Amino acid sequence: MQRGCGVRALDILKTGRWTAYIAAAGLALHAPAAYADTVVVTAGHMVDTLNGTVTDNPVVTVTDGRIVSVSSGTAPETGPETGDDVRRVDLPGMTIMPGLIDMHVHLTGLAEIGGYRTFQYTDAFWTVAGVANARATVEAGFTTVRNLGSSDYADVALKQGIERGLVPGPRIVPATYAIGVTGGHCDNNFLPPSYDAKSEALAEGKAALRARVREHRKYGAEVIKICATGGVFSKGTTVGEQQMTVDEIRDVVEIAHILGMKVAAHAHGNDGIKAAIRGGVDTIEHASYLDDEAIRMAKEAGVAFSMDIYNTEYTLAEGEKNGVLEESLAKERQVGGIQRESFRKAVKAGANVVFGSDAAIFPHGLNARQLPVMVRFGMTPVQALQAATSEAARALGRENDVGAIAVGRYGDIIAVQGNPTQDVSIMTNVRFVMKGGEVVKNAR
Ligand SMILES: [Zn+2]
Repeated sequence: MQRGCGVRALDILKTGRWTAYIAAAGLALHAPAAYADTVVVTAGHMVDTLNGTVTDNPVVTVTDGRIVSVSSGTAPETGPETGDDVRRVDLPGMTIMPGLIDMHVHLTGLAEIGGYRTFQYTDAFWTVAGVANARATVEAGFTTVRNLGSSDYADVALKQGIERGLVPGPRIVPATYAIGVTGGHCDNNFLPPSYDAKSEALAEGKAALRARVREHRKYGAEVIKICATGGVFSKGTTVGEQQMTVDEIRDVVEIAHILGMKVAAHAHGNDGIKAAIRGGVDTIEHASYLDDEAIRMAKEAGVAFSMDIYNTEYTLAEGEKNGVLEESLAKERQVGGIQRESFRKAVKAGANVVFGSDAAIFPHGLNARQLPVMVRFGMTPVQALQAATSEAARALGRENDVGAIAVGRYGDIIAVQGNPTQDVSIMTNVRFVMKGGEVVKNAR
């Protein structure tokens, strides 16, 4: 909306037709109904993610992309006489809920191309892959994602293409490049020194880290991702090793926060997790080695854990075929089971655990397969659904926009057959997806 006004104002400046501009603006202000696009959605049931309950016969009205009313009973008759352009979507017998949120994806990565095989493709190939992955993601019911690391600002390009309506995809909260240290998880460690290959986003020392955060913001980042420890898929790192100091993390966080961005820290090892919490980050990604103190610290600081506990089986079954290094497979064998026990411990202790899948480690569009795993390791189905909706929205700082079917939020509504609060596995079969009042998928 603001962008549209800006463009119009620019046109006016060029042509000098001020009177026409003011008249047009006045008309728009006084007769908004003439421009309103309204859709009324009815269904058999609705998961209320804010209260953790299921209600019957919901009627949801979405105007200009945002939810304007939520009630139950019979939908009002709609037609030309209402004055608005009213559409109607009836989903009899189906259960609606808010569009899902994945707090950790890499839309410009492909699970099928791993290790050294990535070097067979040119840089912009990954943006093209991102177009396909964005479609698969939104069609799976994920209407919002945090993209925690991509090269060449490809996630910003994808976001712009989706918002322009050029390609289908979720709402993207882009991190652009993950910020890391030399030789760390987010550096490029695959080639010998003569190639001088390194990540664009290496930063060490106060000034460099602060400048890097500001540069990310300048080019479209809305969240900052740091690599606080080693990781599974990087070459030459161990998952337990701490790679950034508390002071370095604090520098990133201070600038990110004053610029209105949250900070997500990739951290597997216990020391790195604690350093990240002390440094003030907002979410811990992976969180594999959690002791009781780390869980307590996270709870006290209001830090959420985003734990990718689905992808282990995929990596161990398909990784070798996909070119993943043996070193990475060994690390996954070491860390997968431990991470799931940490997940169980964190949930039991009442920590805030949100849905983050690390899609790109496994194929995009299969994200919801993590929900039953979250239930297997200690969440109730309702908790798992909230982790992927209302709780994720809160961790994003976007609880006015997404994560619930509630007045004021975007008309992001998905539908399944059956009751996901009893059997969460049905979320892997989302039949209907609406994003901002527009139907993205309708496979009833
Ligand atoms: Zn990741």
